[in-house]
Amino acid sequence: MASLSSDSWPHPGLTKVASRGYHLPMRSVGLKVLKNKLSEYVRLAASGETVLVTDRDRVVAELGPRLAAAIAVHDAEQRTVLDHLTGLRNRGEFQRALASHREADEPPPASLIHIDIDYFKRLNDSLGQEAGDAALKHIARMLTEAVRDGDLVARIGGEEFAVLLPHAQLREALEVAERIRDSIADTTWEWSGTAYPLTASCGVASYPDPTADLLNLPAAADAALFKAKELGRNRVEKSGAVS
Ligand code: GH3
Ligand code: MG
Ligand code: MG
Repeated sequence: MASLSSDSWPHPGLTKVASRGYHLPMRSVGLKVLKNKLSEYVRLAASGETVLVTDRDRVVAELGPRLAAAIAVHDAEQRTVLDHLTGLRNRGEFQRALASHREADEPPPASLIHIDIDYFKRLNDSLGQEAGDAALKHIARMLTEAVRDGDLVARIGGEEFAVLLPHAQLREALEVAERIRDSIADTTWEWSGTAYPLTASCGVASYPDPTADLLNLPAAADAALFKAKELGRNRVEKSGAVS
């Protein structure tokens, strides 16, 4: 197992945080174990997602040998949370994020956007599966560019995507959805040197208003998406009041 010396500090798995210290991404079980071990002399960053390490030499001495292994575990876990085609989060990871939002004693507002490509079967049938896959990657890039850090973008089905906007209320989520719809419709997607039009429909749901129960957020976003399809596609619709 690789070990760390002071010379090799900082390890590539750690990121310098201004002048305050270093942080470890805390997504993985392996790193969470380290977090417990570090509890005597670290303080948690406000997000709860990072650990600030202020006593560098002590950390290196005590945890150096275990850090490389923990980071390897973290990397392996990352592979299981990502969609292999687009590199976005996969459905399982998206559901875990929603569940963790629900776990808070008083969950903050959150909004969910479901996005479904319009007439995608037609594109697949006429241009082939490879073109369809390229279009999915293109849409994934559009989505990633349209959201902010902290928002979560996932591929939750074949040609269905979801964006979770923690803390965002309905009005802000509608703006993001409109930006997504607009960027997909306005950006040229080319296959074999020819431009093809791509559009998508979006359904938006928000907690706690109008969806009072976080558990119902995905169903509310689906209902809004269905409405957008019914009303002609390439449009954004919001869910109505759902308790
Ligand atoms: P609508 O506007 O109502 O959404 O129509 P649609 O044709 O997009 O919807 P439909 O559900 O009928 O078709 C979805 C298609 O998505 C079916 C399948 O060919 C395609 N698809 C699903 N997963 C993948 C994938 O991973 N790669 C490719 N290339 N196509 C996929
Ligand atoms: Mg679909
Ligand atoms: Mg579709």
